Amino acid sequence: MHTDHKTTICHGCGLVLPDRHLDPPDRFNASGECWQLFSDLSCYTVSKQDPEFIHQYVVDAYEAQHVGGKTRNITVIFGLIGLYLALEKGYTGKQVQSAHMQIARVWNDWPRLEPPAPLACLTVLDVIKAPDGPEKNAMIHQWMAAVWKSWSDRQACVRETSDGLIGRAGE
Ligand SMILES: [Zn+2]
Repeated sequence: MHTDHKTTICHGCGLVLPDRHLDPPDRFNASGECWQLFSDLSCYTVSKQDPEFIHQYVVDAYEAQHVGGKTRNITVIFGLIGLYLALEKGYTGKQVQSAHMQIARVWNDWPRLEPPAPLACLTVLDVIKAPDGPEKNAMIHQWMAAVWKSWSDRQACVRETSDGLIGRAGE
């Protein structure tokens, strides 16, 4: 994709943003400008202190949308497992968090996944632009669903892996 000196593209989610010369994050295949939006959103979701712990949802959506480069395999897989559990199993963010901890205890052989094509149609920017409150929560769910859909050729594998690991962790 063409970029000039006035904009920067995020190599994870494809977001094109005004170039503010921000350093890219250490752990994600993302532009500094995209990462800044995620940091802003994280401030909002953490400050909500909601029992559902919606913050976990935005972490997982962001992780699963920034595959490749510096992003570790475990990060992408955890993001995908989180999206699966939330969207298809109705897990709250809190429940996803504890599932992640269970899985980390029984599995450490994380495969490398190739980025999906085409990329998801929604990004962290769409969530930032939505008004705070119910509309933003709804957009978070739409973003999660869009990222999960972009991985359609991997969904069966994620379901199987996740169900198997959670079963083992519960033994
Ligand atoms: Zn991005």
